[in-house]
Amino acid sequence: KAAIELRQVVKRYGATTALHGVTLEIGDNEFFTLLGPSGCGKTTLLRMIAGFEDVTEGQILLFGEDISGREPNRRPVNTVFQQYALFPHMSVIDNVAFGLKMKGMDLASRRQRAGRMLEMVHLLAFADRLPSQLSGGQQQRVALARALAPEPKVLLLDEPLSALDLKLRQAMRVELKQLQEETGITFVFVTHDQEEALTMSDRIAVMSAGRVQQVGPPREIYEAP
Ligand code: ADP
Ligand code: ADP
Repeated sequence: KAAIELRQVVKRYGATTALHGVTLEIGDNEFFTLLGPSGCGKTTLLRMIAGFEDVTEGQILLFGEDISGREPNRRPVNTVFQQYALFPHMSVIDNVAFGLKMKGMDLASRRQRAGRMLEMVHLLAFADRLPSQLSGGQQQRVALARALAPEPKVLLLDEPLSALDLKLRQAMRVELKQLQEETGITFVFVTHDQEEALTMSDRIAVMSAGRVQQVGPPREIYEAP
């Protein structure tokens, strides 16, 4: 069964049409990338899946269920943004544990789960530091651990590496890919960087001006004219 199904999804902002009827299926456990230039509608699509934006026309299904009208925090989805807004006054482990409070977990379980997540991103040794004592790459890994902690079925990643320098970005590509394989969570990754898309994805949707032009595995996309 598809993790996410988009049926003729249209998004208008007043007179601007950001998406002109996008139809797409994203498989469970896939590393799926939305690739395209700035302004083509990638973020808009992601925000609608997350529930931060209303769908103007069409339907979005998550695991076969129409989720329109369901609040963002009631969807089995979590998001990592380009700007990883960590709470500056909270330790790394408390940042990761924060989202678990809403799930009704007690403090001991929250800290245990958060510790496991930090181990997964190789930052357990930094658990008691403040975010400001970490490098940019480390902070983004904390943001990833925080997003993964509530065990979402789908993780949406909006250009999560674009604030990092080139070397770190390349290392993080490998790490993200491994994280996806390890957790089996469906990743929907947004980027304008073709190389990034080609090296990480199971499948890529190439977008342009509010439309999906092509969908396929990296090899097919790379060979396309
Ligand atoms: P991308 O993520 O690919 O850069 P966006 O989804 O941010 O593209 O934007 C797609 C189009 O929708 C652009 O033309 C953008 O200006 C427009 N847009 C995005 N958000 C809004 C908004 N809140 N109000 C009006 N127009 C918007
Ligand atoms: P991106 O990194 O996707 O290109 P932008 O910098 O274009 O993001 O947009 C950042 C925020 O501004 C987003 O929340 C988007 O919805 C909003 N936005 C983008 N374009 C417009 C617009 N033309 N009018 C109003 N808001 C916009």
